[in-house]
Amino acid sequence: MDATDTPLGPGSDALASSDFSTLFDFLPIGAYRSSPDGRQLRANPAQVRLNGYDTEAELVAAVRDIAAEWYVDPQRRAVFKAQLERDGYVRGFVSEVHRHRTRERIWVSENAHVVRDAGGNILFYEGTVEDITERMSNEAALRQRDEIWKLALESTGDGVWDWNLAQGVAVLSRRCLEMYGLTLEEMQGDPQYLDKRTHPDDLALLRRDRQAHLDGLAPTYVNEHRILCKDGSWKWVLTRGMVISRDANGAALRMVGTHTDITQRKEAEALIWHQANFDALTGLPNRRMLRDRLTQHMLRCDRERLQLALLFIDLDHFKQVNDTLGHEGGDQLLIEAARRLTRCVRASDTVARMGGDEFTVVLPELHGTHEVERTVQDILRELASEFRFGNDRTFVTASIGITFYAGDTSSVDDLLRQADQALYVAKGAGRNRFGYFTPALQEGAQQRARVANDLHGALAAQQFRVEYQPIVALATGRVHKAEALLRWHHPQRGLVPPVEFVPIAEANGLIISIGEWVFRESARQVLQWRERIDPGFQISVNKSPVQFHRAKAERQTWVRALTMLRLPRRALTVEITEGLLLDTSADVANHLVALRAAGIGVSLDDFGTGYSSLSYLQQYDIDYIKIDKSFVSGLAPFSNDLVLCKAMIVMAHQLGISVIAEGVETPAQRDLLLEAGCDYAQGFLFAPPMPAERFEAWMEERRTA
Ligand code: C2E
Ligand code: MG
Ligand code: MG
Repeated sequence: MDATDTPLGPGSDALASSDFSTLFDFLPIGAYRSSPDGRQLRANPAQVRLNGYDTEAELVAAVRDIAAEWYVDPQRRAVFKAQLERDGYVRGFVSEVHRHRTRERIWVSENAHVVRDAGGNILFYEGTVEDITERMSNEAALRQRDEIWKLALESTGDGVWDWNLAQGVAVLSRRCLEMYGLTLEEMQGDPQYLDKRTHPDDLALLRRDRQAHLDGLAPTYVNEHRILCKDGSWKWVLTRGMVISRDANGAALRMVGTHTDITQRKEAEALIWHQANFDALTGLPNRRMLRDRLTQHMLRCDRERLQLALLFIDLDHFKQVNDTLGHEGGDQLLIEAARRLTRCVRASDTVARMGGDEFTVVLPELHGTHEVERTVQDILRELASEFRFGNDRTFVTASIGITFYAGDTSSVDDLLRQADQALYVAKGAGRNRFGYFTPALQEGAQQRARVANDLHGALAAQQFRVEYQPIVALATGRVHKAEALLRWHHPQRGLVPPVEFVPIAEANGLIISIGEWVFRESARQVLQWRERIDPGFQISVNKSPVQFHRAKAERQTWVRALTMLRLPRRALTVEITEGLLLDTSADVANHLVALRAAGIGVSLDDFGTGYSSLSYLQQYDIDYIKIDKSFVSGLAPFSNDLVLCKAMIVMAHQLGISVIAEGVETPAQRDLLLEAGCDYAQGFLFAPPMPAERFEAWMEERRTA
């Protein structure tokens, strides 16, 4: 049956009659039938066009010998035929050929087979021809780019890796293998080879970064990780890589990259990190690290509904230890204290050194608050036991402030502040003890912050006054001394007592300028009263330890003021506290010497409450001691306090020091003191501190009485 007579359509007749001529015509690639001697017998339209002709007839007529006319390399046809004869077919046979008519060179890929008759004789060849010129030029460009890139990579001295994902093969450059002491043989092209030698802690992140780039989510693949070398050591490497070819769907076919040895940099970083986060002396985490851990623990508390405790620990009178043992001894003690603290806690707890003699402890994962008290007691006991360094032995105690966190809204700073406030109270309550943070403490702290704020403008706004309290000579009842006491008239809060603002002014340094002002006021006043009341009148002025730690230049201001005012000797006395004498620094000693040289007397205030020691009294020229009112208030016949007062008086007199008793409120106290030989007394029994005019009036009343 003639195929051209049969209408195309469904049905066995139509199928049976089809010789695929329509397929032949519409095939987008060239299809042909050729004779073994190199002529074209048939060609479909695509094959006609591929060769630059318009009709099949033109092509068939033009081609004489494919071997000579078509292939750029004349040997190509021989290879083609040899393969056909050997296998009966060729597949993907790639050659450069000429478009027959135009002689333009193109690349083609051929598939072909041999068609034989029943006797096995070759009838003709049949095959397809595909123009792959464009693809070939792309691949050539790629290959070229590849070479250039590899060259550039190797030249940096880094190792280079090349991973063919399509083939599942990876290779490392010589330099790369050298870095780890590995060989290509060991690796066997295994793309997993380096992954298997990557530090387990680093692998997950590495895979994530690499996948992100493979998936096209990151422009490059960059990762730092450790690789196990042949000799068993770890090397830190920075790898940078890039996919250089992808298939039509964007899947990565090949990726290349480098390895840079960054071990040294990592070691330096680790060292810096350690220095930044740990205390050099004790090896404990430092303040920064503590904040870090505290933050982590707080997050865990939130998640797991646990509690944590933060302990602020401060060694009591550490400065004194430092002074007696020397700085090296002080350091030894801190190191030992750190060890003892660490012994008192679990491995999961954090002990940190905040600086100086301050430590913190974080007790995380508490199921209740009772666990804390035992630890705190352990710490107090451990620290209180003897410290020995060679022949030196010493004792210290500690004060501890405690606060809790139970997943509330407190921040790290809140917690640190709270523990600090609790510590402040523990110290104030007499040291060697612990105290818990309470909301009342918070209120107190806020109050202190407000005071500090208001203090700044107080001097300029003339809110300060000086009041004077008479000091009475017990034997004669004469008054030719007074103590200057500072008063702050706050515009809203009224009279604020010194105990509320002096410590704050000391903490923020304002005490310096305020103290200068009190000093000038008192100097002016004493000159007046020397004329009006008694030519030998004396005023004593309280001087904060803080004022002794100022620069030398500032130290001179009192002395200069004294000379300028032409103040007679002993017109002014400074009252200092015993604590100041414990400070053996040259500053303090020089300052006291300078004051004395300028004619100022020295009183030791609040005597008996601190670390009074005879040697201090001898070492510095002290004119007066003021027995603290806590001894005076307990005075009664046969009382312990009476014994103590008597002892102090006798001791002072033996050293040529006069004695003033503070806080005398009753005639009985006065009489006992007089009997005990006390020189002077000061207290509400005689008069409270008074403004200057009231003081003068009071003196006048006494004179006339
Ligand atoms: P201080 O130097 O020991 O002063 C004695 C304190 O005892 C004064 O308290 C005084 O008013 C009070 N007082 C006097 N007689 C009696 C009494 O019979 N019974 C009782 N219970 N108390 C009595 P004040 O004025 O509140 O001063 C407290 C502290 O503030 C002073 O203690 C002193 O350390 C400090 N201070 C006062 N003025 C200044 C100053 O100008 N500069 C410095 N740095 N500190 C000052
Ligand atoms: Mg005083
Ligand atoms: Mg006092």
